[in-house]
Amino acid sequence: MPKSSSPTPSATSSVDKAAVSQRIPVVQIATPSTKIHVREQKGVFQRLRQHSNTLLIAIFFLIPFINYQGRQAILFDVTEQQFFFFNITLWPQDFTVLAWFFMAAAFALFFVTVYWGRVWCGFLCPQTAWTFIYMWVEAKVEGNHHHRAALDKAPWSLSKVRKRVTKHAVWIVFALLTGCGFIGYFMPARELYVDIFSMSSGFWTGTWVWFFAVCTYLNAGWMREMMCLHCCPYSRFQAVMFDANTKTVSYDATRGESRGPRKRSQTTELGDCVDCNLCVDVCPTGIDIRNGLQYECINCGACVDACNQTMEKFGYAPNLISFTSENALKGQPKTSLLSLKSLGYASALLIMIVLIISDLSHLSHIQLNVIRDRQTLYRQVGIDQVENSYQLKIRNKTQQMAFYQISISNDDPQKQTLQIVTDSLIAIKPAEQLDYPLTLSGRLSDRTSDSTQQTVQFKVTQIQSLDNPTPTEPANEISQTSRFFWP
Ligand code: SF4
Ligand code: SF4
Repeated sequence: MPKSSSPTPSATSSVDKAAVSQRIPVVQIATPSTKIHVREQKGVFQRLRQHSNTLLIAIFFLIPFINYQGRQAILFDVTEQQFFFFNITLWPQDFTVLAWFFMAAAFALFFVTVYWGRVWCGFLCPQTAWTFIYMWVEAKVEGNHHHRAALDKAPWSLSKVRKRVTKHAVWIVFALLTGCGFIGYFMPARELYVDIFSMSSGFWTGTWVWFFAVCTYLNAGWMREMMCLHCCPYSRFQAVMFDANTKTVSYDATRGESRGPRKRSQTTELGDCVDCNLCVDVCPTGIDIRNGLQYECINCGACVDACNQTMEKFGYAPNLISFTSENALKGQPKTSLLSLKSLGYASALLIMIVLIISDLSHLSHIQLNVIRDRQTLYRQVGIDQVENSYQLKIRNKTQQMAFYQISISNDDPQKQTLQIVTDSLIAIKPAEQLDYPLTLSGRLSDRTSDSTQQTVQFKVTQIQSLDNPTPTEPANEISQTSRFFWP
């Protein structure tokens, strides 16, 4: 039996082109001008994908409806420049945590890719999830892939108009829901849905929701696999993360070739591929996996399910197409599981997690900015008294009313030469900034040196209440140094 070499993780170009040109019937590679009518497929991986996509979409829509302490638990409040995550409030200066988080997510993805290839694309990517939902709606309204292809070619009739209008109406409603779902992370979600569907939203709210709705409609309804093929950067560079042990959807050419049709009970010299073309018909990106690993493959597993169905019909062993590695296909043992790449990604991921934990544990709940009066360096009151004025910008970064005591300490810890003239106990509303004018006073006779200026440290300490100025437990305080000027 003639055998072809097993596919390697190279692009289509590395395939034995002469052999391919003889054997491959039709490869409907997606281009902007071709429309792929994907054949519906059932099977283990399709069930897995449906469950993971349903879970993903449910999480996406439900998260903005989770409330915590009377407000939306997860909210990027753009107008107030705050990010709420349950009891954590991040302000713009804390956003490094978010940067670490996104970098950690990227390294986690790279790490998984080393072992499981593009499993993210097939089972968790929002583009795939929304595309499959849109394809499901299309199949429900217009019928299976044969019906849809026929409908495309059919002249316009009442039935065709009805089907097209129904399909696009459902797509638009789902796109609008998606727009609300997305913007619901940036403004209170409960009111948002009501406002949008009662057409009473503000101009910018409506604009943003419709903008994301149009993007969803175009991406999932029209662009589909074009996004994966031509826009997604991950599809282009994921191959550099692969090694010979990476499990990815692959065709066992050694077993399958030479391919060819035959009757079910017929004994033949041919390989196990019966050339039914089902693996191509079910492929959402329109490729033929028998050509070897291609960047267009999103690892959705539809061709695995389709081929296993055929193998079962013919009484052959399953997994002619399967999630497997190059080494496994060549019958070679696995090389070490911990490659340099995976160790590198794991280390980077670990560093990001440590940075996130460190940043979160050092988050301050008070923000302080001391600004000296720029007009007057000092003010002399009477013969012995000197005053300096400051503006303290104190922000309560928590979501509860908080009380603070302002205190100072100067150069000489033995002798406190300066006093706060104004009231030092203050209350600040949740998430508000207080611009607090404060005056310090010192006696010329108490000066500890001849210098015309001295360092003064302002400290803001959170206290129990205005009547009980005991510091809170755990302690919550912040300090900043400034200068006090003498004549
Ligand atoms: S080749 Fe198979 S796994 Fe890859 S996208 Fe097509 S159907 Fe999905
Ligand atoms: S589904 Fe399997 S048997 Fe059918 S053409 Fe594809 S690889 Fe060959």
